[in-house]
Amino acid sequence: MARGTHVWFNGQVVLEANARISLFTHALHYGVGAFEGIRAYKQKKGGGAVFRLTDHLERLFESCKILDVKIPFTIDELIAGTRAVCQANGFEECYIRPICYVGDGPLGVNPGTTPPIDVAILNWEWGNYLGDKGINEGTRLKISSFIRPHVNSSMTKGKITGQYVNSVLAKREAINSGYDEALLLDAEGYLTEGTGENLFMVKDGIVKTTGLNSVLNGITRRTVMEYFKHKGVIVQETRFTRDELWCADEIFLTGTAAEITPVKEIDNRLIGKASHLGKPGPITQETQKAYQDIVHGTLPDYAKNWLTSLELK
Ligand code: PMP
Repeated sequence: MARGTHVWFNGQVVLEANARISLFTHALHYGVGAFEGIRAYKQKKGGGAVFRLTDHLERLFESCKILDVKIPFTIDELIAGTRAVCQANGFEECYIRPICYVGDGPLGVNPGTTPPIDVAILNWEWGNYLGDKGINEGTRLKISSFIRPHVNSSMTKGKITGQYVNSVLAKREAINSGYDEALLLDAEGYLTEGTGENLFMVKDGIVKTTGLNSVLNGITRRTVMEYFKHKGVIVQETRFTRDELWCADEIFLTGTAAEITPVKEIDNRLIGKASHLGKPGPITQETQKAYQDIVHGTLPDYAKNWLTSLELK
């Protein structure tokens, strides 16, 4: 994992070693911040491009709206900042992490009416979140003993820093139990999502994903749904239970970091029909290929609006 030597911090590209923050940073204590996870990909026509940059930054603004935090920059300034940091670090293909948080100020729970807000954009080279084996052969999941908090406790539409403690606990429990990733149920026992991915299943030719009221509005999820819509396939947004999942024909996870990762096993049960038991199924493989084509700019219909060219020097 090669980190960029430079970061964009409050409006300027600076050496990462010089971008230091105070121990009095409010967000360090109370988790009031929001972030994004974005990827840039090498393009088939040459050069690098950021995938759905505006959509990610719009979600960052929504996360901050939920927190009642005002980002002291415009979307266009953050787009320019993202390009500048990618250019400074010379990455055509990388993971990009904008983060916005309550900075150094009064350390009570109440940060005040006009708290200082820091914004940074970092990037690094990062392989698939669930590993090469996971993306090629399928990943192994455990239904977590941790659940997603009630929707009035945890704001599902916000990619909020403090909320990720729930994901960290679930992820570590899954890894320590010999699995690759956790799936979390909601307070009523229905499936929600992974620690950093949305969830799709296929049964008898019908593609389903969990409804938006219990999960993050994933941009990869949207991409997959738009791709299916283009093909005339409507994805059902619905609730499902763990046993419905165990009996699915195919399951895959979607996320910027995880891309399209097939699921081979959940709770010691191999997933799939006899023809592809414990292996990526046909719809999953087709979706994986389409996603890679879309992000690498080989499907012109999608390239036009979704890829922001990096023009590295
Ligand atoms: N759910 C959670 C909890 C996540 O952290 C992520 C990663 N951002 C996702 C779903 C997938 O979202 P996206 O496709 O926008 O990366």
